[in-house]
Amino acid sequence: MTDGSVTVRVPAKVNVQLAVGGLRPDGFHGLANVFLAVGLHDEVTATPADSLRLTVGGPDAAAVPLDGTNLAARAARALAAHHGLAAPGVHLHLAKDIPVAGGMAGGSADAAGALVACDALWGTRTPRAELLALCAELGSDVPFSLLGEAALGRGRGELLTPLPVGGTFHWVFAVADGGLSTPEVYRECDRLRAAAGTGATVDAVPEPEPSPALLAALRDGDSAALAAALSSAGAGGGSSNDLQAAALSLRPSLADTLEAGTAAGALAGLVSGSGPTCAFLTGGAAEAEAVAAALAESGTCRTARPTTSPAPGATLLP
Ligand code: ATP
Repeated sequence: MTDGSVTVRVPAKVNVQLAVGGLRPDGFHGLANVFLAVGLHDEVTATPADSLRLTVGGPDAAAVPLDGTNLAARAARALAAHHGLAAPGVHLHLAKDIPVAGGMAGGSADAAGALVACDALWGTRTPRAELLALCAELGSDVPFSLLGEAALGRGRGELLTPLPVGGTFHWVFAVADGGLSTPEVYRECDRLRAAAGTGATVDAVPEPEPSPALLAALRDGDSAALAAALSSAGAGGGSSNDLQAAALSLRPSLADTLEAGTAAGALAGLVSGSGPTCAFLTGGAAEAEAVAAALAESGTCRTARPTTSPAPGATLLP
């Protein structure tokens, strides 16, 4: 165990493809989930303490639970239990820059960050495979927050295969006021499928598959090809994100955000995961700055953040 504190930086993600299968009897949906880590980060600092204590800073701090349900606290408890430690003695501080309930896996990022930070603080030297297994128990998106870069997630999204990325992509993230509940967005997706007459269960919905064109665009670092794939890969009309229609149904004003970003020159726009953050792919750094400025001006979002991908996974800061 070290005496001082340790800080881990952990990225947000965008799902460049989120193909959602039918509702399974266990209540989950099978996914083909193409994750890309992006340069918005939370930082998790772990400091020695007698018991588990949690503090949160950042613009959305008030929306983050401080009790035992917080994913960072759950991660610290899980790691302590894994090593048979009597109690997770640690003060975790979450410096949150990833929007809360924004569809960018902020809570999952904090869980992965807390695992890596506590592992370093406690000197438990957990092998990577065991850390990944703990991540998968904490949530479907947590293993990817540990890995970062790009990966294909199957199963509930937690069975990961790293994907090659051949260049830098320039994005703008339009952050909305207020969040959307991920379970509620999945329920709306099921409801829309049932209402459309196609059915929402596993036998009615085709097995989700990654788009070969989208994977090739990532591999080649080709923004124009990725933009084309973002707008056409999905089963549900014009988006590679099968949750986009459900997010728009629950938050119709997101259509204005998507329209404002594409009108400002983005190559493509889509809802990030379960939303309500909208992601815009642009042609370069200058284009991203211009699209961010236009989005901020449009009044259709709270803030617009230019950034790049891919980004490394949970990383101990020196
Ligand atoms: P995903 O993209 O993985 O579906 P999200 O980005 O939409 O997730 P999160 O920011 O992870 O959403 O938060 C979802 C909910 O989880 C929050 O509304 C909050 O109640 C709870 N939560 C638990 N721990 C955290 C945390 N460390 N940070 C943020 N929210 C947390």
